[in-house]
Amino acid sequence: MEGTEVRVVEVREVGPDTVAVTLEAPPGFEARPGQFVQLRAMVDDADGEGGGDGEDQVDAGDDDAVTRHYSISSPIVDETFELTIGVDPEGTLSPWLAEVAPGATVEIAGPWGRVYYADEPRVVVLAAGPGIGAAVGVAERAVIDGGSPTVVYRSAVPVHEDRLSALASAGADVRVTADDEAFEAAVAEILETEDAERQTFVYGFAPFVEDAREAILAAGGDPGVAKVENYG
Ligand SMILES: Cc1cc2nc3c(=O)[nH]c(=O)nc-3n(C[C@H](O)[C@H](O)[C@H](O)COP(=O)(O)OP(=O)(O)OC[C@H]3O[C@@H](n4cnc5c(N)ncnc54)[C@H](O)[C@@H]3O)c2cc1C
Repeated sequence: MEGTEVRVVEVREVGPDTVAVTLEAPPGFEARPGQFVQLRAMVDDADGEGGGDGEDQVDAGDDDAVTRHYSISSPIVDETFELTIGVDPEGTLSPWLAEVAPGATVEIAGPWGRVYYADEPRVVVLAAGPGIGAAVGVAERAVIDGGSPTVVYRSAVPVHEDRLSALASAGADVRVTADDEAFEAAVAEILETEDAERQTFVYGFAPFVEDAREAILAAGGDPGVAKVENYG
């Protein structure tokens, strides 16, 4: 897959096991929050000792090249853009991204995906895990556009707390809960009123996506019309 080499500008911790990685945007790159890019990096065995803590997943043909997808978590893409990465200590690329030095290069292809903010007047975003990155990006963009988005974040260890607080201060309805039942109740309360202009978004790994679909259904909504990005 064709990609463009870009520099890592910054890596910062945004909560437990989660980093926000700011990258240079490739020339002519235009993207909306919630779209995803393909990121490819050479995850070499830097100490040359063969690791010993598990096997890297490598792409065929190019030793140590690893490719994964990540959603854009900045509200606006200009010369740079941000990805929010949940660091899986047993994983291959995410721990490497957590440690990468500014100035290093990675390859970017995309953006892709249809689960992005498309100027909908009423935005409700359901998120868990690193899906909160796309959620804050979408909600911040909606606020910039004069909207009052809703974010329901299922997490026991919230990340991006500063941005969630800023969203709440800007008039967004931000709800954070670790509890499955409270999550379902929040979704029910939000979706119980009819609103033809409302668009629901879901970002997260498969088990959460399934729970979110069930919560939408239980609330009398149609999960089929939600914009859902399943991280696998
Ligand atoms: C459209 C899309 C958007 C995404 N957006 C984001 C995002 O914004 N932020 C984000 O953090 N993630 C996102 N993801 C997920 C991301 O692409 C990666 O899957 C994630 O970062 C893990 O990659 P890794 O290389 O660190 O881990 P991997 O090397 O892929 O490993 C993941 C886990 O699987 C285990 N594993 C690996 N191989 C095997 C095997 N053969 N048998 C058993 N277990 C195995 C590992 O031990 C580890 O625990 C997205 C995915 C998709 C599809």
